[in-house]
Amino acid sequence: MFDTVEAFYRPGTVGEAVRLLQNGKNRARVVAGGTDLVVEADRSIRCLIDITHAGLSYIRRTGKACVIGATTTMAALENSPAIRALASGILARAAATCGSVQIRNMATLGGNLANGSPAADTATPLLALDAEVVLADARGRRRIPLAEFYSGPRKTKAGRVLIVEVAIPATPRGGRWSFQKLGRTEGDISLVNAAAGLQLDSKGRAKWVRIALGAVAPAPMRAVNAEKLLVGRTVDESTLAEVSGEAAREVRPIGDVRASAEYRRETVRVLVRRALQECAAGTGCSL
Ligand SMILES: Cc1cc2nc3c(=O)[nH]c(=O)nc-3n(C[C@H](O)[C@H](O)[C@H](O)COP(=O)(O)OP(=O)(O)OC[C@H]3O[C@@H](n4cnc5c(N)ncnc54)[C@H](O)[C@@H]3O)c2cc1C
Repeated sequence: MFDTVEAFYRPGTVGEAVRLLQNGKNRARVVAGGTDLVVEADRSIRCLIDITHAGLSYIRRTGKACVIGATTTMAALENSPAIRALASGILARAAATCGSVQIRNMATLGGNLANGSPAADTATPLLALDAEVVLADARGRRRIPLAEFYSGPRKTKAGRVLIVEVAIPATPRGGRWSFQKLGRTEGDISLVNAAAGLQLDSKGRAKWVRIALGAVAPAPMRAVNAEKLLVGRTVDESTLAEVSGEAAREVRPIGDVRASAEYRRETVRVLVRRALQECAAGTGCSL
């Protein structure tokens, strides 16, 4: 599969990985778990840079914020007490739905984001959590909101840049959260996924809302019109019908081998309503 690869490196530091990536120009690629890269089998690759020994497998709580290294695996996220406790466990839940146990033992958070798939399961909870990605290249490190990281279908600003870590800021006090996924089977890629966050005021009205969606646009997205529609209102059934309908109007799904565009749009309506109901009930994710 990689018979065109001429060099394989395993750098021990981020600096070394960045240097190798820079020197390799367009023919060098980072490899972490390899679960996307091996399937892609890009024959233009001449140099592979394995970053799994570069010191990027960690989960750190700093006060109420959380920082996750790029090579942290889905299995580590799924099983981490800190990630299970963060935002009712939406990120742990999303990681737990990424393929089989074997895939989750290899697949990394950085790879899931860098691959640029609109269906990446960790991207939607991270969008709802206002996460930022820390990138490194020859010029140094910079931090950008995850929402700005995607530039189109399978296009990210990662390119010849290394994702170092993902930073999740403190979540709103009393926030309620939900992650929903519909795939053909339990371990399948999402037909649609959704993450929601909700903070209520003392009168039970929505004060802060996040609705993020995957597999329904060229990149993972926030349903900002639906979010605005809910703010200041009581979360009752008629409001939820309106808000989920707005989310379904906002998406730009395509039809493909997995589902038609119409099916995906209808699924958005159902999953957004379900996610907000779960938030309102404050039951959290089932892990
Ligand atoms: C059978 C199967 C089932 C799957 N099911 C799901 C699923 O349910 N949900 C889901 O979201 N995904 C799923 N995937 C996709 C895949 O497992 C994930 O996207 C995974 O997180 C990719 O991580 P990785 O470490 O394996 O990436 P790799 O394959 O190593 O890399 C993927 C891409 O990202 C780049 N890259 C990796 N790390 C970095 C970094 N730190 N900085 C810059 N670039 C980087 C690589 O160069 C490559 O272009 C599935 C894959 C398979 C094969």
